[in-house]
Amino acid sequence: MKHEKSFSCEFFPPKTEKGAENLRTTLAELATLNPAYFSVTFGAGGSTQEGTFDTVKEIQKKGLSAAPHLSCIGSTEDNIRALLKSYIDIGVNRIVALRGDMPSGMRETGEFRYANELVEFIRSETGDHFHIEVAAYPEFHPQAPSAQVDMENFVRKAKAGANAAITQYFYNADGYYRFIDDCEKLGVEIPIIPGIMPITNYSNLKRFSDMCGAEIPRWIEKRLIGYGDDKASIVAFGEEVVTELCRKLLDNDAPGLHFYTMNQTGPTRTLWHNLSIGC
Ligand code: FAD
Repeated sequence: MKHEKSFSCEFFPPKTEKGAENLRTTLAELATLNPAYFSVTFGAGGSTQEGTFDTVKEIQKKGLSAAPHLSCIGSTEDNIRALLKSYIDIGVNRIVALRGDMPSGMRETGEFRYANELVEFIRSETGDHFHIEVAAYPEFHPQAPSAQVDMENFVRKAKAGANAAITQYFYNADGYYRFIDDCEKLGVEIPIIPGIMPITNYSNLKRFSDMCGAEIPRWIEKRLIGYGDDKASIVAFGEEVVTELCRKLLDNDAPGLHFYTMNQTGPTRTLWHNLSIGC
């Protein structure tokens, strides 16, 4: 199914004043590319609900569109209801709805178990106010008992009322297309937008990938390891590999791209220019 293409960027809430200053600069620079929206993560790496809200507010104040990530695990209906209202009050009309992960040491799962329940709750409380994005895993969620069960769970989440999905990052386009085919066979027709992680550093990428179950193909990993401390070669190789991946995706009807910017301008802007997005 063909969809209009959407290009967007993701930030995490800064934890220090220096980080906040850096993000202001990044936001101003990336805003010149005119992305559809800037999403802001929630809870990842220990960031707080307030951090997400403040960052979203700052983006909205500049007349840009922000999409807060909202995770429901450990939360109550009252909390989520209040948060939705605060977002409506500052003009937000997009949400990335997630289950999230239980913070270590916390035991109570709260009133929501899975993201499909959050999507249903947002729809029942706020109707069609929010454009809801959910997470998709073409290489499957690390906790899923099987690929097939994970697909069924994704379908349940999409059918609960999501408008679109953003994928975990991947470097193998075939897995993405197989996932899209399976979704279509199961009656899911919402756009599933590839999440794109620029490659600028091996150890961070390896750590993230091990955590979230994204595969670094052997041929990429071996080369990155081989570059050692040669940062310039890692960046040049990463740019080439990720540009190729994005080009392949866009040439084959991917409904846009969502860039995990890591709060940096350079890698995302370079990819955007290489791909002539918006030209
Ligand atoms: P779900 O869709 O609920 O799935 C979680 C697991 O439960 C899967 O294994 C699934 O198969 C299973 N499952 C789902 N529904 C059911 C059901 N009804 N019954 C039984 N099993 C079920 N993390 C953060 O902390 N903050 C962020 O801001 C953040 N942003 C993200 C953005 C994107 C685009 C992506 C891809 C991930 C993001 N994450 C973030 C990571 C995410 O929170 C974790 O991957 C989390 O473990 C799962 O969240 P989910 O919404 O995908 O969960």
